[in-house]
Amino acid sequence: MKGRVFSGARPTGKQHIGNYLGAIQNYVKLQDEYECIYCIVDIHALTTLEDLDQLQPNIREMMLDWLAAGLDPEKSILFVQSHVPEVTELHTLLSMITPLGWLLRVPTFKEKARQQPENVNYGLVGYPVLQTADIILYKANMVPVGEDQLPHLELAREIVRRFNNLIAPVFPEPQAKLTTAPMIRGLDGQNKMSKSLDNHIELAATPKETEKRIKTAFTDPQRKFRTDPGRPEVCNVYDLHGFYDSEKLEEISQQCRAATIGCVDCKKMLSKEINNAMEPFRERRAEIAMRSGYLEEVMADGAERAGVIAKETIREVKEKMCLL
Ligand code: ATP
Ligand code: MG
Repeated sequence: MKGRVFSGARPTGKQHIGNYLGAIQNYVKLQDEYECIYCIVDIHALTTLEDLDQLQPNIREMMLDWLAAGLDPEKSILFVQSHVPEVTELHTLLSMITPLGWLLRVPTFKEKARQQPENVNYGLVGYPVLQTADIILYKANMVPVGEDQLPHLELAREIVRRFNNLIAPVFPEPQAKLTTAPMIRGLDGQNKMSKSLDNHIELAATPKETEKRIKTAFTDPQRKFRTDPGRPEVCNVYDLHGFYDSEKLEEISQQCRAATIGCVDCKKMLSKEINNAMEPFRERRAEIAMRSGYLEEVMADGAERAGVIAKETIREVKEKMCLL
């Protein structure tokens, strides 16, 4: 049997170049070799989403991004988390064997609790348990993710080991799969690029929007004037050139150090490169968006195929937990 791949992303906004370079490019590649299941995790989005009216539009936009990036519903199962409700049942069952101490230690829980002190909800603590349920409901062996997800993956493996020891050996231990760009910094130059930090460049942005966003990017803070020599090694704009413009990287580095180009020029070049790279994606996306009823069809078909696997796993888990 081919190995199984699972990954998910939160519908908190459109996909950005960090998502693409860190995760989606692997989603696409793995489709030819593995049985792949990709999920828009709408329940996870509820832990932080303030504007619920945005949820359905976000789901559609994300599916469009995925399809335009090369995810193929003929090869992979593409679905929305809440459309296969067995995941919530597995989440509840896993919560009975997951020590609370493990969850309270998770760095993202502490971070979210700091970011939204007025809304430290129960779902935030249980986030990694639901994520584990997402993955193991499909008995996935491999999980393509960005570096920020490694602690969650490690926890998923611990929960699996605990389940397999305490109850019965049902689940494989899922392995993380990183790309060569597992952590893209955001336009603030400090944090990881992230939808919810609004420091991102959307794949689907127009060329003008992309240029405008990149203009706001932080560069070397010591370079105050155009004539100051720059330090490419601390500059995120320089790093981004590496992904879109790698042949010119050495030249850009020298010009920056010699102050023969300024940050404005350097950002203009980057905008151009990103816009060139994204042009086919944007065309495909517009074309798919025109197909009436197509997204609904993809999501319904994905949920149906995912549901068959999910039901079988839940039956097995309930049997092992003496619930049948
Ligand atoms: P949010 O801010 O809502 O959490 P996000 O931008 O972090 O959104 P996710 O939906 O959480 O995006 O992540 C989707 C996938 O993209 C995950 O596998 C994640 O590890 C990866 N990813 C997210 N941000 C980056 C980044 N800056 N660099 C590399 N990979 C990333
Ligand atoms: Mg995230």
